[in-house]
Amino acid sequence: MNKIFGSRYGELLKPMLLALLLGLGLLAEAQEPLKVVTTTTTLGQLVERIGGAQVQVTVLGKGTQDPHYLEAKPSYMVKLREADLVVAVGLDLEVGWLPNVLRGARNPRIQVGQSGYLELGPTVEPIERLEGKVDRSEGDLHPLGNPHFHLAPLRYARAGQTLAARLAELRPAWASNFATAATVLTADLTDKEKKWSARVKATDLKEVVTYHRTLTYFLNRFGLQTVGEVESKPGVPPTAKHLMEIIKRAQEKKVSCLLHESFFEVAPSERVAKSSGMSVQVVPTEIQAVPEVGTYEALIERLILALENCRQLRSKSL
Ligand SMILES: [Zn+2]
Repeated sequence: MNKIFGSRYGELLKPMLLALLLGLGLLAEAQEPLKVVTTTTTLGQLVERIGGAQVQVTVLGKGTQDPHYLEAKPSYMVKLREADLVVAVGLDLEVGWLPNVLRGARNPRIQVGQSGYLELGPTVEPIERLEGKVDRSEGDLHPLGNPHFHLAPLRYARAGQTLAARLAELRPAWASNFATAATVLTADLTDKEKKWSARVKATDLKEVVTYHRTLTYFLNRFGLQTVGEVESKPGVPPTAKHLMEIIKRAQEKKVSCLLHESFFEVAPSERVAKSSGMSVQVVPTEIQAVPEVGTYEALIERLILALENCRQLRSKSL
């Protein structure tokens, strides 16, 4: 080698050899899976389904943790340090902790505005946007719109398409794989949604009460409404006066079903249900919120099952 590089001929070969080695290095790098970090388990599964073998997914929040209130832990910053992409819900869901984690990660690729940072909530036409000036002192958690879009299957699928486009930007060679995965997910959930819809229709339920507005997209999609929430406002625990109002409203409207999201303290919901004759169904709202809910489909199934349970209990009491 040295002999060749020592010669005039070798001097010509040197840059070519370097270019070749550099090329091989880049190739090896391009084949490494993308390191993607998500804020919730349900987004983590979306990335796995769209990214396949081309992604290595790390989820910050556990399925049992309320994503509104995670802590900006140093261990999260370490996880973001090497990440190629951070996928968040946005719409202020993670506003209390994610900005600090991003700052602490000291990774320029994943900062807000870079191609390594993606919020999916704003891309799926959020509902319940508050107009005008928002007074956070009143404790409203959702000024930019309701962030819990993931429980409406087709919005989840649509978020998968946005994600596929971003993954393609980061790994152009795999663009068609990502696009195909998004198309498959959309077709699959469209099909399943029809079956879920028929089951909800068969329960004949029209109105429910929830603790938080986590289920609004789900209920809207399946033709149900909430007559109110047990908490006073998003993020504000109920006052005695508010509980009385909800009990009165549920009685007047003869609501039989209270869906209580598993992250929240169940006692206030039980109190409301007892006083108004509703059945309380504690429901998971993220994948792995309970051990047996390991997939997106299992999560939606559990919500449908909760409605069916309410229906059965109501039939028994009539
Ligand atoms: Zn919320």
